[in-house]
Amino acid sequence: MVTVALKCPFCGSGDVRLYGTSNGKKRYAGNNTECSHQTFYAEYTYNGCKPDVKNAGNVLDLLM
Ligand SMILES: [Zn+2]
Repeated sequence: MVTVALKCPFCGSGDVRLYGTSNGKKRYAGNNTECSHQTFYAEYTYNGCKPDVKNAGNVLDLLM
């Protein structure tokens, strides 16, 4: 059985299902009814939090 190690970035629950696609991005929905976000994009989990991606440039400046 092949499963994608995908978790909801908001509650960390792995109980998610494919919800559909929007703008070419796969959208997932969590089955955790207590989660504040019922749907999310898989890309978030790959890039981390969007604000942190912006700060990546600052980190590189510190290293140099
Ligand atoms: Zn969630």
